[in-house]
Amino acid sequence: MEDYLERLKRGSLKLYALEEELPADEAARVRRVFIERETGVALPAIGAYTIPVDRVAKKNCENLIGAVQVPVGVAGPLAVHGEYAEGSFFLPLATTEGALIASVNRGCSAIMRAGGAEVRLFRDGMTRAPVFAARDVIHARGIVDYVNSHHDEITAAAESTTSHGKLTGITTLVAGTSVFVRLEFDTKDAMGMNMVTIASARAAELIASATGARLIALSGNVCTDKKPAAINMVMGRGRTVAAGVNLPDALVREVFKTDAATLAEVNMRKNLVGSARAGSFGFNAHAANIIAAIFIACGQDPAHVVEGSLAVTTVDPVEGGIYVSVTLPSLPAGTVGGGTGIATQQECLRMLGVAGGGDPPGSHARKFAEIIAAGVLAGELSLLGALGAQHLARAHQKLGR
Ligand code: NAP
Repeated sequence: MEDYLERLKRGSLKLYALEEELPADEAARVRRVFIERETGVALPAIGAYTIPVDRVAKKNCENLIGAVQVPVGVAGPLAVHGEYAEGSFFLPLATTEGALIASVNRGCSAIMRAGGAEVRLFRDGMTRAPVFAARDVIHARGIVDYVNSHHDEITAAAESTTSHGKLTGITTLVAGTSVFVRLEFDTKDAMGMNMVTIASARAAELIASATGARLIALSGNVCTDKKPAAINMVMGRGRTVAAGVNLPDALVREVFKTDAATLAEVNMRKNLVGSARAGSFGFNAHAANIIAAIFIACGQDPAHVVEGSLAVTTVDPVEGGIYVSVTLPSLPAGTVGGGTGIATQQECLRMLGVAGGGDPPGSHARKFAEIIAAGVLAGELSLLGALGAQHLARAHQKLGR
């Protein structure tokens, strides 16, 4: 230990190179002790973890020193009637936000008593959009014409890099001499960002060499990854999924201590009018809360909560009650790759019956997306109900402090 610490101090051994000489656990321990000495802060809690870090240090986290633990609770059972998810599920939610799980739980109970949430996927496509530089607008048009008339060649190039990914759509956008080619892939059970980035690199090479376009960046921000963007809201990115439930007025009164008309008015004035007036991309109450908690529990890339937050919540009056729905135009979610293989996250995915690749490929990720949408619906219902009954501040006082 002292020898490694001495070399780190001198700079003859780099922090990131410890795994070249030591097993991952040992490397993390030496690095942690080095940081403890450098900062004068003891890190016993960060150093006490249960996940095997061998794979984590290689694939998920450089310069590993340990793990931060996020509490995990469950909400449910939640009844889901999807095309891929059928049955009742306990949602694993990793959060430090007091009252969140209690709130989702109440929504789950309302959905359960209403007979379950019906869920459908509408689109499934992860995107990457390289940006090319053209000499002038005439050249820009030439690049677009090439792309539009060579879908088969571009598809073959892209798909040569992956045994699972399928190129399902190509959209071009131009701004003067900048040409964006938005490539959309069915990524099966993977969220797919790495997969589509590698595939897009091959497609971009072909487009550049065939047209003389200069490839400027593999990601030209028209993708759009991890930034709030209308294109994701309009065209979808990742899984596009919607969930809905029919709630009789009596059930609304019993569970939420308000009535269907009040809940509908809260939704209209808050989620629709308020969001429009604020110029928000999200027309929902707190979809990001549920998505963040499930994403952290289940090894998803938490930065994709940005896309997930673009949800629309609607409340339609129906005979004797209301039909409440949420639509998530852009839900990047997967059950293989990324952080999904880490032991604790795997257990959460297993609770939902979606760990690893599905049979057929894609079925696990789609089932997972359907369950998330139903979970978001539970969260929306509960918050709208609490607002309708003027209970929000009281619940937070009781549970959050
Ligand atoms: P990944 O860790 O690269 O794993 C995905 C690969 O798993 C696929 O490419 C596929 O290999 C293989 N696979 C095995 N069984 C599969 C199945 N049933 N369905 C689909 N694929 C299967 O994961 P990823 O989802 O592509 O990328 C996720 C990671 O990307 C996250 O860690 C995220 O943080 C990160 N990320 C990357 C970028 C970027 O620009 N690179 C941007 C944002 C986030 P084959 O392709 O060989 O078939």
